[in-house]
Amino acid sequence: MSTNGRTQIVILGGGFGGVYTAMHLEKLLAHASDVDITLVNRDNFFLFTPMLHEVAASDLDITHIVNPIRKLLRRTSFFEGDVEGIDLPNKRVCISHGFEPHQHHLAYDHLVLALGSITNFFNLPGLEEHALTMKSLGDAIHLRNRLIANLEEANSECAIQGRAPLLSVVVAGGGFAGVETVAGINDFLRESVTFYPNLSEETLRIVLVHPGAVILPELSPKLGTYAQRKLTQRGVEIHTNTKVTAATPCAVTLSDGTTIPTSTLVWTAGTSPNPLLSTLPCARERGRLLANEYMEVPEWPGVWALGDCAVIPDPQTGTPYPPTAQHALRQGKVLARNITTALRGGQKKPFVFSTIGQLAAIGRRTGVANILGINFSGFFAWWLWRTIYLSKLPRLEKKLRVVLDWTLDLVFAKDLVQFITLRAPTVSHVDDGEHMTSGR
Ligand SMILES: Cc1cc2nc3c(=O)[nH]c(=O)nc-3n(C[C@H](O)[C@H](O)[C@H](O)COP(=O)(O)OP(=O)(O)OC[C@H]3O[C@@H](n4cnc5c(N)ncnc54)[C@H](O)[C@@H]3O)c2cc1C
Repeated sequence: MSTNGRTQIVILGGGFGGVYTAMHLEKLLAHASDVDITLVNRDNFFLFTPMLHEVAASDLDITHIVNPIRKLLRRTSFFEGDVEGIDLPNKRVCISHGFEPHQHHLAYDHLVLALGSITNFFNLPGLEEHALTMKSLGDAIHLRNRLIANLEEANSECAIQGRAPLLSVVVAGGGFAGVETVAGINDFLRESVTFYPNLSEETLRIVLVHPGAVILPELSPKLGTYAQRKLTQRGVEIHTNTKVTAATPCAVTLSDGTTIPTSTLVWTAGTSPNPLLSTLPCARERGRLLANEYMEVPEWPGVWALGDCAVIPDPQTGTPYPPTAQHALRQGKVLARNITTALRGGQKKPFVFSTIGQLAAIGRRTGVANILGINFSGFFAWWLWRTIYLSKLPRLEKKLRVVLDWTLDLVFAKDLVQFITLRAPTVSHVDDGEHMTSGR
């Protein structure tokens, strides 16, 4: 017992794995006065990533797909901060936070590692400096702002010679995140361009670059081919069997030698496990922590791992479960039960789950889906996408806000307002205005 004779459960990461573990622990340990649960996360909210592209494409308001962790977890202590170190031998974690950053140490009896993954640029020249990513809420807001800023700039008379890079977008990666993002961007730009008198749809160039033969390799080639055909019909240029090899502020180079003039490259083509994991004295596979079927980290009693940062074997096949939200949230439920069993006694439960289905929205009320082995495409798949993900979005308030956004979308055009967080211009003296300073 670490503090005041009470058992300390510390959860690192407030994504699908961490938050769902805490939610289920709260239920299972509702009447346990001898256990403290603490969750540490960089942001004070839980991000519902499956709808992230809808924020980038201005379909949804920026706060509607996030939930404050404090509203989701009423019994758990929430700590907003950056995990900087994990000391397994001494059973404590080091967290930094604050306007003047300083460190805290949290002792634990049980530690849950749910730190997810980060974007990997594979050392490709210019990508780290120039590519946008699609992992966080900030990424989606940044992308949306960039698209609108580019339209504003391209519309001006003086940009006449340099419009091509402003009106071209390259998305790298034809998996779920890349395809949904490029579809959303395509719809957004084609709809918005009508508000810019000097621009037209013909001036837009939206490109998807995918290393495989067919996009959406997670689904069947049939659905991938369908998605490819629909996107092409809507004006997306798809380069298959091709990779992005370099980026500059105004161009992207592809592996087939093509150079595309663009100031907007969105990189969804690679992830790496959280770098903190490499500091741990634990076995890893491609950087992810090796855990057993109970989600225990071997040789470290009381340490558990789940979600994108862990390799958890399917007891039926021995192969690792894929890094998806639908797995992470279900792992959270079983893990909460196993921690409770470790505290109270009983039989631990292995994590066993078969993927129910996979869905992608590919724009203009069209989708592709494979549910229980059956393929769906078109409007019905898109409807399934919306219905299923809406049901998974936590909290009624956010569900209603999303439904309202989607309903208003039927009547009104997508919003073109940029989210600018800079101060408005100010003045330090009340006189003739000469001392006016710019907030930008
Ligand atoms: C754009 C996009 C779309 C997706 N769509 C789908 C989909 O449709 N269906 C699906 O099943 N899956 C989808 N996924 C995958 C899904 O989001 C992940 O598999 C899931 O989030 C994994 O959960 P996790 O808890 O392991 O990690 P995450 O949800 O990434 O959570 C990790 C948390 O840890 C925090 N963190 C990391 N490092 C630190 C630190 N040092 N200090 C403090 N906090 C830290 C992060 O801020 C984050 O909140 C999508 C992913 C993306 C990026």
